[in-house]
Amino acid sequence: MPIESLNPATGERLRTFAPESTAEIEGKLGRAAAAFRAWSRRPIGERAAVVARAGEILEAERQTFGRLMTLEMGKLAGAAADEAAKCATACRYCAEHGEAFLRPESVASAEPPDAIRFDPLGPVLAVMPWNFPFWQVVRFAAPALVAGNVGLLKHASNVPQCALALEDLFSRAGAPEGVFQTLLVGSDRVEALIADTRVAAVSVTGSEAAGRAIGAAAGKHLKKSVLELGGSDPFLVLASADVERAVAAAVKARNVNSGQSCIAAKRFIVADAVYDRFASAFAAAMSALRVGDPTDRQTEVGPLATAAIRDGVADQVARSVAAGARVLAGGRALDGPGFFYPPTVLADVPADAPAACEEVFGPVAPLFRVAGIDEAIALANATPFGLGAAAFTRDAGEAERLGRELEAGSVFINQMVASDARFPFGG
Ligand code: NAP
Repeated sequence: MPIESLNPATGERLRTFAPESTAEIEGKLGRAAAAFRAWSRRPIGERAAVVARAGEILEAERQTFGRLMTLEMGKLAGAAADEAAKCATACRYCAEHGEAFLRPESVASAEPPDAIRFDPLGPVLAVMPWNFPFWQVVRFAAPALVAGNVGLLKHASNVPQCALALEDLFSRAGAPEGVFQTLLVGSDRVEALIADTRVAAVSVTGSEAAGRAIGAAAGKHLKKSVLELGGSDPFLVLASADVERAVAAAVKARNVNSGQSCIAAKRFIVADAVYDRFASAFAAAMSALRVGDPTDRQTEVGPLATAAIRDGVADQVARSVAAGARVLAGGRALDGPGFFYPPTVLADVPADAPAACEEVFGPVAPLFRVAGIDEAIALANATPFGLGAAAFTRDAGEAERLGRELEAGSVFINQMVASDARFPFGG
């Protein structure tokens, strides 16, 4: 299948790429293996300097990189330039701290002296998603390259131009040939890449389905793997919360990246005492958001990245409504051109409806009414996911309990969940 770059705001085909041939992939794997031997032996300071230089280019050219993201996957123009700048921060952070993180450790005084070394693995395959087309890749590449690994990027098939721009970025930053390469291939080629003896490990960020397939292939071929998968983060509003502040944060947290973020708030769990006030203000604010052209700085919600994603979201909402959910805002895909779905609020969502138990990758917010904190925590934790959680309360004791009892990789009190290069991230 050809790899196509479409503009999600218009549906217009931008470019088409033929997937790389077996011979082309073979050449890249050979270059990765050769590059690893030399790159891993270079002093860490030299590797860090290349990553730092990539950060400088990202900062200087953030508008250009941002325009490419907007064009290819519909990210709002301001957010897209910010994403490139955030990548620059991650490069700087890894370049500055990599050496200290990887310094050999001594466990006990012994003769001869002992040391635990942190050695690179080799060529690492990175299977990446389109939703943060620069950030997800740089978040993988900056630490991996500083540590002495080399990267092989298999990016999502709808962002081939971003994938090529990333390869060019590391090359311009001074990475020797083979240190960071893009493979233009479909997901059908991933298992063969994992099986290849030159590939040491695989890192995937994507959906549960991709994680299952890649985790199985990594197990079959005994390769190390990192699986960074989907989420259905809870957003709790307790009786003591500042409701206005919670509404403002909820609108932002559900619509970040037009609703297409792993750590977007996806289930809104609200205490009975403030439910009606929160629900009406939230539905009104969601309805008032400006949906449209992502290049227009006034736009607040852009298109979804592909027609299939828009149709999937519409189907999840339709099935939730058929199961008994009530629409308070939005609820129907907008007419084309472009793949638009409006901010949507659902009330009375049954526990087994798609909006309650599946990840919805678009601006759809199901509301759940609970009696108090015990029920809120139980419902928040009643999910197989567990990336992040946000909770609004003005009670210090409740805040402390929420931090302890919410089963998520990170818990944010009185603010939305966000990632930061300096903190661990994951479920
Ligand atoms: P996706 O459809 O799973 O695709 C992600 C990557 O996996 C793409 O490169 C895709 O290639 C590849 N892939 C898909 N199925 C595969 C299979 N069976 N075997 C091998 N490779 C496969 O996900 P997406 O739509 O790009 O991204 C959205 C998902 O990523 C959401 O679930 C979101 O929550 C998650 N995500 C998680 C994080 C995190 O840090 N935890 C961050 C961002 C996104 P093709 O495009 O060629 O199919």
